[in-house]
Amino acid sequence: MEEGAFYDAGFLVSVLTTQPLDRTLDYKAPEGGCFAGAFVEVPLGPRKVLGVIWGPGRGDFDRSKVRSVLRVLDVPPMREEMRAFLIRAADYTLTPLPAMLRLATRAPGLGDPPSMRKIYRLGGAEPDRMTEARARVLAVLRDYGGLAFTLRELAEMAGVTSSVVKGLVKQGAVREEDSPRDLPYPHLDPDLPGKPLTEDQAAAADRLRAGLRSGNYGTTLLKGVTGAGKTEVYLEAVAEALRMGRQALVLLPEIALTAVFLTRVEARFGARPAEWHSGATMTERRRIWRMVGQGEAQLVVGARSALFLPFRDLGLIIVDEEHDTSYKQEDGVLYNARDMAVLRAAICGARVVLASATPSLESWANAEAGKYERLELSSRFGAATLPEMRAIDMRAEAMTPGTWISPSLRAAVADRLAKGEQSLLFINRRGYAPVTLCRACGQQIGCDHCDARMVEHRFLKRLMCHQCGETKPIPDTCPHCGAEGRLAPVGPGIERLAEEAAASFPEARLAVLSSDLFGSARALKERIEQIAAGEADIVIGTQLVAKGHNFPQLTLVGVIDADLGLQGSDLRAAERTFQLMRQVAGRAGRAEKPGQALLQTFQPDHPVIRAILGGDEERFWQAEAAERQTAGVPPYGRMAGIILSGPEAGPVFDLGNALARNDAPLRQIGAQVFGPAPAPIARVRGRHRVRLLVKAPKGAPLQEAIARWIAPLRLKGDLRLSVDIDPQSFL
Ligand code: ADP
Ligand code: ZN
Repeated sequence: MEEGAFYDAGFLVSVLTTQPLDRTLDYKAPEGGCFAGAFVEVPLGPRKVLGVIWGPGRGDFDRSKVRSVLRVLDVPPMREEMRAFLIRAADYTLTPLPAMLRLATRAPGLGDPPSMRKIYRLGGAEPDRMTEARARVLAVLRDYGGLAFTLRELAEMAGVTSSVVKGLVKQGAVREEDSPRDLPYPHLDPDLPGKPLTEDQAAAADRLRAGLRSGNYGTTLLKGVTGAGKTEVYLEAVAEALRMGRQALVLLPEIALTAVFLTRVEARFGARPAEWHSGATMTERRRIWRMVGQGEAQLVVGARSALFLPFRDLGLIIVDEEHDTSYKQEDGVLYNARDMAVLRAAICGARVVLASATPSLESWANAEAGKYERLELSSRFGAATLPEMRAIDMRAEAMTPGTWISPSLRAAVADRLAKGEQSLLFINRRGYAPVTLCRACGQQIGCDHCDARMVEHRFLKRLMCHQCGETKPIPDTCPHCGAEGRLAPVGPGIERLAEEAAASFPEARLAVLSSDLFGSARALKERIEQIAAGEADIVIGTQLVAKGHNFPQLTLVGVIDADLGLQGSDLRAAERTFQLMRQVAGRAGRAEKPGQALLQTFQPDHPVIRAILGGDEERFWQAEAAERQTAGVPPYGRMAGIILSGPEAGPVFDLGNALARNDAPLRQIGAQVFGPAPAPIARVRGRHRVRLLVKAPKGAPLQEAIARWIAPLRLKGDLRLSVDIDPQSFL
């Protein structure tokens, strides 16, 4: 596509649509012509679909049957930079282009003409009679120097009823106008004073600013313990981007975090930025999509899909908590937002800042190799210090059966209660108990549709499958042997831990934080704010609490099962455990009072546990890197997962075997294929799943080889195949 190319009416153009087709389609340019990149509506069979003018037509259709583009939408054409990004992201993830285009157009009503609303500004005339209320309205309008407001805003600011404003309109003292509903975002002022930075922070901010001013692409890993002020530092980079007239994007892993973050942005820049996430209303999404394209949203704060917004001039992308696994999209288009951020920035000449206290090994290795710049903030801000970390050796604790809080941990919690400080008990398991076992026959209750155990959720009074979400009532009799009253919960989940804490500390105020206990993100946010304000003595939480919340009164973190993550066969098990434990421990002692983290473990001598306790992060990363290097696995080798699924196990395996046999394209690049094997979760929602794993040397053209490998496949019936490049989880 040639940027700025124009096609006259009737000229043959090719259009990429959002429909699952494997090619672009030819159409005739509409009356008035169209630019390359224009968003258009085209007829497809009986329907009208969204598309983009991709270039000149291919001419391989019968010309007499080629139809016309219906209309050009009233939005700026797709920029060449965006098109290049979509093509390269599609190539990287082996995703068909139409699916990428769908990601890039996730705003409803793009094609609608802008809807209008009434706004009010100062008119020329004087009212016949001046009342106090009328004078207030006019004063507000004068104070704001010609700005216009909606009726509600104006009435509210002046403290009058809307009829007062309407009265002034009749008199000509106030003018009523139509204005498009999609308003630009309020101006953010980068020159408001920020917090005075410490020497460390100021030096890091200087480097980021210098990077931006270079005008070239570059990625920086901003590493610093939780509470070191990474956010303060990268907000200075945002300020610099805004000063340069470029746009900035801040990606956050968790929507519960955005509320606090937005308040900080408002304090720094004087207004709130655009917020892009799945909870945003349709109108808001459309407004952001349009305003970002017109350059009238300077800063977007959002979830990973914000990367696909049509920024006019994106100069900076921040990926906060870059190690977070939620950056990997595990549904639909399988992409890692961190990697795609780097790709997009490289194409549009932007800077990337990856911020984390515990970077992913991938980013750490890229910094080691000199591909990323590395900045470090070594201490916590102000009086806050890092928590002291200690293991509780569970082999030496006298545990009552059916309890999980050791006497040592109980004593530590009691101590904080006496001092009026908060404790956090961390367990990474939702529900009441992970297993429901029949004491008569020894069988566990499983999901009818998946190869997974049902988890008891006492709060919901049901068993739930964490794979497919299926729930059923807790039975009285065993579904296997029919024995009555012999079903028993085994092991702890967060609900059961809460029960134990309530029994052990009857006087304490408990707050249970698990994603499934809240009806809405808002309810969760409110609860988090209450806890931060000190309205709980003991917080009991899952993974959810590990992420960046700031609880100033919290001085003790107790990890119920530090060994939990070590058991997986996942190649990142050690890394994940390390990150999670350090993050959770980082919740303690964020303000003046020092914090302590106690890890209950049966393996205090395990290398990962020792690395966590020792706090020698560099050594942990070096050891982990050496191990992966020897094994030739990421980031020192490449991997891809192929998941095949279907309603019947036989054909799925046949397909997998056929693929494994015809592996010539893989062998040509020195790659190996493993499998087919039943996926770790072999059945989900009634579909049998088989996995192949491809391992290739670093630098091998993996995607291209896989594309050639799977190209001859014809998927029959209900068989499905998905490719996961750089898989993060191995489900
Ligand atoms: P991080 O992002 O590294 O976890 P934050 O930027 O959230 O750290 O900083 C932790 C806390 O310390 C925040 O409440 C922040 O406002 C405060 N803080 C950090 N640096 C400064 C500073 N230079 N002046 C005042 N407060 C600061
Ligand atoms: Zn299930």
